[in-house]
Amino acid sequence: MANHFSWLNDQLSQLEASGLVRKRRQVVPLADGWCELGGRKLRNFASNDYLNLAHDQRVMEAARQAVDAAGFGATASPLVVGRTDWHARLETQLAEFEGQERAILFPSGYAANLGTLSALAGEGDIIFSDRLNHASMIDGCRLSRAHIHVYRRDQLDALERKLQQAGHYRHRFIVTDSLFSMDGDVAPLDQLCDLADRFDASLIVDEAHATGQLGERGRGVAEWMNVEDRVAVRVGTLSKAIGSLGGFVTGEHELIDWLWNRARTQIYSTALPPSACAAASKAIEIIQEEPWRRERVHSLAEQLRTGVSEAGLATTPNGVGSIVPVILNDPDSVMKASARLEEAGILVAAIRPPSVPKNASRLRFSVTAAHTEEDIDRLLAKLCRSCRVPA
Ligand SMILES: *Cc1c(COP(=O)(O)O)cnc(C)c1O
Repeated sequence: MANHFSWLNDQLSQLEASGLVRKRRQVVPLADGWCELGGRKLRNFASNDYLNLAHDQRVMEAARQAVDAAGFGATASPLVVGRTDWHARLETQLAEFEGQERAILFPSGYAANLGTLSALAGEGDIIFSDRLNHASMIDGCRLSRAHIHVYRRDQLDALERKLQQAGHYRHRFIVTDSLFSMDGDVAPLDQLCDLADRFDASLIVDEAHATGQLGERGRGVAEWMNVEDRVAVRVGTLSKAIGSLGGFVTGEHELIDWLWNRARTQIYSTALPPSACAAASKAIEIIQEEPWRRERVHSLAEQLRTGVSEAGLATTPNGVGSIVPVILNDPDSVMKASARLEEAGILVAAIRPPSVPKNASRLRFSVTAAHTEEDIDRLLAKLCRSCRVPA
């Protein structure tokens, strides 16, 4: 057999040597914050199912009913014959949930960012992008062919100067995660709104990690910071706190009509399975009716954050909500610590470059509504031992 890719062996060996090769494995997902890995039951601190809805019986039943009524696959893209009542109801529900005129669905959050940024921005425009934005926003910026300026959210005076000099671009956009997935801190949306107003820019906010968990009604950081009517475009995912699959964008009707016509990642991709929409619809109802879920995530995350600091471990400043990183710098220490935690029955994400900058490898704990105070206490005790810090 011809070997076309022997040249990749060198590259793969280099990854292996730097401790950066990605290993894949199969988990058995279990209810209530557990999963099984290699025949062992582990407490799961690596999932984005923040509100414990992926295994909720009501969500599962809604999906089953849609499967019975509509089959599984959507069989076509939304504009052909893939869009059903389940899709239309979910769009209406998402727009109402976020207090926006309209919503549009995408196959994933990744596709939502790629399709939206490339449909809105083009040559002659400029996008200001936070340097720690999610890969899907970075790729969306690149695909748009707009000029890209990367800024740091801890240096907004530099961003202000760049905005001041950008008057000659046709359109100006500022794009940011709302809750950053690696550091667990939030974007300064209030200050970004001020800058967007002053320099006639449109603010695009990706609430992927914040939807359902932040804000009085669970609408995200924009709600929490009381700037919802100043954000031009809100991107979200159905696959984290909502426990299903898919992405979405909400905003003014002109925006959504444009995305129906120009966002290639939804035009040229098969619609979501109706059952994924039915599950998401039920989950959003539950999010509105059961605020205790997000309240529990917050108090448990605070407990973990405080415990990590008291143990003398390094975390990120200004953390808010479910994501609590423990920074161990080099990839090797992170892999060893996560393996020891796994021995002790705890599953955690080991994050290495290129997901984070060099020397910033970390364990990332995701707290969910399935966890308890006792879980966090046990986790802290085991964490201290696994990172060789006296408790
Ligand atoms: C997870 C994530 C996405 C991707 O969402 P999917 O629905 O999983 O594709 C996009 N943006 C951010 C900020 C994310 O954290």
